[in-house]
Amino acid sequence: ARKPLVVGNWKMNGLKASASEFGRMVEGYGAGLRHRVQLVVCPPVTLLSTFAVIALGSRVGIGAQDCHPGTHGAHTGDISAEMIADTGAAFVIVGHSERRIAHRESDADARGKVKAVHHAGLIAILCVGETAEERKAGLALQVIDGQLEGSLPEGLTGDDLVVAYEPVWAIGTGVTPSLSDIAEMHAHIRLRLVERFGEEGGRIHILYGGSVKPSNASDILAISDVNGALVGGASLKAADFLGIASAY
Ligand code: 13P
Repeated sequence: ARKPLVVGNWKMNGLKASASEFGRMVEGYGAGLRHRVQLVVCPPVTLLSTFAVIALGSRVGIGAQDCHPGTHGAHTGDISAEMIADTGAAFVIVGHSERRIAHRESDADARGKVKAVHHAGLIAILCVGETAEERKAGLALQVIDGQLEGSLPEGLTGDDLVVAYEPVWAIGTGVTPSLSDIAEMHAHIRLRLVERFGEEGGRIHILYGGSVKPSNASDILAISDVNGALVGGASLKAADFLGIASAY
């Protein structure tokens, strides 16, 4: 079995001075923890190269939070997957709800980005998740089906795709779904991935994201088909982030 994955999404937080906090994460990722769980930190793109150098030799993975679907060209302000790979990063988060909402990114946009990430030899972490209204209307499973179908290109394997289930209403709110609702959704996503990618679908990590913290990590991470966590706020401090990873 492959190691579970605990990914920190720093969002728009962190300056050069944050290198020391990241350094504490790298130091705290000792042999015991390394054996049980793969740790990844996705800082803002301004810190990618710095963090990649700090992480050298530690096996802490580095990732970006977004990329452009193209390879190069006249796209002022955008960053390609190849540029991200060039920093030493190995992961790219794609289709986060904050980008779907604030930048009106569609499933088709996410699909183009997943393809670009794949072509650059990186691992895409595709985010899906329903809103509170959609869950109340009983549409959560259907919404996730649509997002998976629209956002995933053909031919992906467990080596180049991670899926993160992040209910929009659980992000940054301190509220999480019940353990049985998380279990239901993850089993459902697993079924869809196996339908879509066959045996490889069984190998794709499915992460839970939304208000994960050290105090709820053991319960959430023990659910079957929860293969790790995508952590926002609690990934900014080494003690919290390592506390979550230590649930394994
Ligand atoms: P929080 O952990 O702050 O709720 O954020 C979750 C998230 O959006 C990670 O991508």
